[in-house]
Amino acid sequence: MGQLRHVGEKRVAALASMGIETVFDLLTVYPRRYIDRTKRVDLSDLTVGEEAAVFGEVTKVKSRRTKQGKAMVEVSVADDGGSFNVVFFNQAWRERQLSVGVQALFFGKVTDFRGQRQMANPVVDVIIGPSGDERDASKVGRVVPIYPASGKAGLTSWEMGGFIEESLRRAGPLLDPVPQTVLDELGLVERTASMWGIHLPSALEEVAPARRRLVFDEFLRLQLLLALRRQRLEATSAGIRHAVNPDDLDVSPGELNDASSSLVRRFLAGHRFTLTTAQRRVLGEITSDLASPLPMHRLLQGDVGSGKTMVALTALLTSIDGGRQGALMAPTEVLAEQHLASLRQDLEGLTVADESVLGGERPLSIQLLTGRLRVKERQAVLDGLASGSVDIVVGTHALLTDDVRFRALGVVVIDEQHRFGVEQRATLREKGRARSDEAADPDLLVMTATPIPRTAAMVVFGDLDRSVLDELPSGRVPIVTQWARQPDEVSKCWQRVRDEVAAGRRAYVICPLVEGSDRVEATSAVEERTRLATEELRGLVVGLLHGQMKGPEKEEVMAQFRSGELDVLVATVVIEVGIDVPEASVIVIEDAWRFGLAQLHQLRGRVGRGRDVSYCFLLGEPPSDEGVRRLEALVSSNDGFVLAEIDLDLRGEGTLLGTRQRGRSDLRLASLRKDEDLLLAARDVANAMVRENGLRTEPEMVDELRLFVDDDEADYLFKS
Ligand code: ADP
Ligand code: MG
Repeated sequence: MGQLRHVGEKRVAALASMGIETVFDLLTVYPRRYIDRTKRVDLSDLTVGEEAAVFGEVTKVKSRRTKQGKAMVEVSVADDGGSFNVVFFNQAWRERQLSVGVQALFFGKVTDFRGQRQMANPVVDVIIGPSGDERDASKVGRVVPIYPASGKAGLTSWEMGGFIEESLRRAGPLLDPVPQTVLDELGLVERTASMWGIHLPSALEEVAPARRRLVFDEFLRLQLLLALRRQRLEATSAGIRHAVNPDDLDVSPGELNDASSSLVRRFLAGHRFTLTTAQRRVLGEITSDLASPLPMHRLLQGDVGSGKTMVALTALLTSIDGGRQGALMAPTEVLAEQHLASLRQDLEGLTVADESVLGGERPLSIQLLTGRLRVKERQAVLDGLASGSVDIVVGTHALLTDDVRFRALGVVVIDEQHRFGVEQRATLREKGRARSDEAADPDLLVMTATPIPRTAAMVVFGDLDRSVLDELPSGRVPIVTQWARQPDEVSKCWQRVRDEVAAGRRAYVICPLVEGSDRVEATSAVEERTRLATEELRGLVVGLLHGQMKGPEKEEVMAQFRSGELDVLVATVVIEVGIDVPEASVIVIEDAWRFGLAQLHQLRGRVGRGRDVSYCFLLGEPPSDEGVRRLEALVSSNDGFVLAEIDLDLRGEGTLLGTRQRGRSDLRLASLRKDEDLLLAARDVANAMVRENGLRTEPEMVDELRLFVDDDEADYLFKS
């Protein structure tokens, strides 16, 4: 970086503080917008009430305090057309930023102040600083790129533009790692043209094609890394061919079966329900993975209540049918405990062959392994896993990182783990092999109830095959969702809770998220419970569940709620995922706007599990438009996939992409929604390139990809 003109030590440090260390980093800082100097907004044309972007030079700066004691900075801005006032409140630092002579772009709403047009607190892009005249303004084209300037690092958009321009000029033609045939086929411009087009367009029309090419490159790098990772996994895998009999999946409940049938068959024949069409289809996909010599690496997506548990259990039982073991991992200990209880119930009465016991048969053994076990209990479970006398173990992800050894681990199911990144999954698989005496890779099924739009899934879970449960079991009655905004609506909500309880059903009340600590949140939950029990819900039995309670305490409360001893459960979000009490028919969510859309949908999914109409009440008045739209969305749709799309719209994609995307491989220009076609194209190209010969004939592409992974990973992915 230091080789660029005007880039001395100080500038290098400033750039580094913005994460820019190489010329490549610099060239991938893209303009936020452009000013077309041929189509300049005349100051005299500004209309009050409209948003406008105005470019001009600061001619005067004044700072004072308002009567209320707020800092106020007044700036006069001039261009050829006239002058214009900008005021800033509570931004005293603007006085330093906008000294006389600075040229900047002001973006905001035009208001009228005593007959004068002005802008209050606009967005400011400093284009040329007072001392930033090192770049010759006359040489800049008609279109001026505006870079995300960093006030903190003291770099202006103008300086950034200067560095980038110089880098581009000195670099000359850039290497293009994408084969010309691919570019031709997709109608994409070459890399050199794309870099000039985005940074130094001579007309605005050059920007769009340049952007398309750069977006394609972002997707391509991402998809290449995923494809390579996948190929590596396959090449180094020691998979298990599970014995599978597809006929077993078509058995009907109640159909005669005897102890010599497979566990899968006995389980499905003994179950209360027939599989839904979606469950049957997905199980077909899973069992063919299980039967294949490559380890399964599959994502199971299904909306809340779609019946993922039954699918997961069938997969686990397939492993046990082959004489192996299964593990089910939950994100929290509470959920692990709850899974244990429901698994034991679902699998009750099933037996497995065991030579070492009298009669050659013993009950299927399902055990819990969490940090809460006493030393002796824990040791007993560990011994059972090592000897094979424990068939299924339920726990958190510590299951595979502790001193746990399996005799033969066949299938691992991870529940609700959409927060896991690609690397963690790879580690998990290796751990699975290392922990098993059989030294084979267990098959992996990742389940998530958070519907993820297809495009996002391709980025976040691109290394996984995907199965979707797109159907709810029949007989589900939709949940009536209401946002209770008026006092009478709120009192109707509490009346509904009392009515449901009177009819023998139960209710959840979710307390507001409290920022600060779990302890503060718990305190407020305690208070809310007391308040409800003495006011709105007086006379009902109201229980409490929060994150500060000890394990056994929580279990007891859950058991009381399940059995009906408690009418109402006041809870913090600890119940977010997976809790299944079919008699619960109302959920009241206080300060609902504090939760994300996906989380709200999850919470709502706690009801509507039985045969009765269920209700979800949202309380609270959002302080922002975004909050309003979130609650409106929830009222308007019960479909998790629809909500996920809306969520993506509201929040942007940044939040969706896991840890992987936060680093240098950021999708900077790409939008998963707008650029879906390019994502699909990039995936196909990436798969074809990797399938060909693992990029061995594409050294330039490999060099580029190295910029996006750390050394260890590069060694792993690119070793020959
Ligand atoms: P998920 O984990 O996908 O949210 P669950 O596995 O907890 O959903 O299932 C939700 C509810 O639906 C449970 O009460 C379960 O017993 C029931 N269920 C599952 N599969 C079926 C089916 N095929 N027919 C009817 N009910 C089912
Ligand atoms: Mg579940």
